[in-house]
Amino acid sequence: MECSAERRSDLQLLILVFGLWSSDLEVLTKTKVQRPKTNMLEYAEPVTKLIDELKRLPSIGHKSAQRLAFHIMRTSDSDLDRLINAIREAKERIVLCSVCNNLTDVEPCRICASTARDHSVICVVEEPHSLVAVEKTRSFKGVYHVLHGSLSPIRHIGPNELHLANLLPRLKPENNEGVAVTEVILATNPTTEGEATANYISRLLKPLGLRVTRIAMGMPVGSDLEYVDEVTMDKALANRHEI
Ligand SMILES: [Zn+2]
Repeated sequence: MECSAERRSDLQLLILVFGLWSSDLEVLTKTKVQRPKTNMLEYAEPVTKLIDELKRLPSIGHKSAQRLAFHIMRTSDSDLDRLINAIREAKERIVLCSVCNNLTDVEPCRICASTARDHSVICVVEEPHSLVAVEKTRSFKGVYHVLHGSLSPIRHIGPNELHLANLLPRLKPENNEGVAVTEVILATNPTTEGEATANYISRLLKPLGLRVTRIAMGMPVGSDLEYVDEVTMDKALANRHEI
């Protein structure tokens, strides 16, 4: 009899514990667990502020911002002064060339002012770094027009948001030191936005009787056909030439 009473009390205890546990579970599943926010509070406020500012830069996510912030923390005062001065000087001295919109410290920029360049051919690019990429080939001797972006309805970027307004006037010889522009090369990126931008500019320029060309797109040098995507392969076939 004693034994069964013991068992009963064990069973009661088990039910009691399980009951409590299950009611805890119920509470846990019904209500959101409140955990302390440890995310950014781990850092002192000035560090958090620095990380937040760095995150505002393009292509900088939270981890990269943290890495940069810690690098800045470890930087010597003289190195930090150099960095701050470089940013300030670039911001103060660099303007957009009034002719081609490239970043420059002289007006007009060195390319637009150069008599060694062919001013009858204009290469249209999206960003200043695209211009640098074309310049690196050393094969293009014409001049440029930098749009500072591409058409993108999703990002609400229309023709008015691009630096397009000064393209049409410079095609006239009287605005181009007497030189008639004979060709405009559209070197916007091979993206949906870049293609849309190229098509838009092409429609603007074609009625003027100019030669409007688009840079070829296709196989990257040194690549293998096996690893090239269908769109690139399709472009490569369309842009084939005789050898
Ligand atoms: Zn220029």
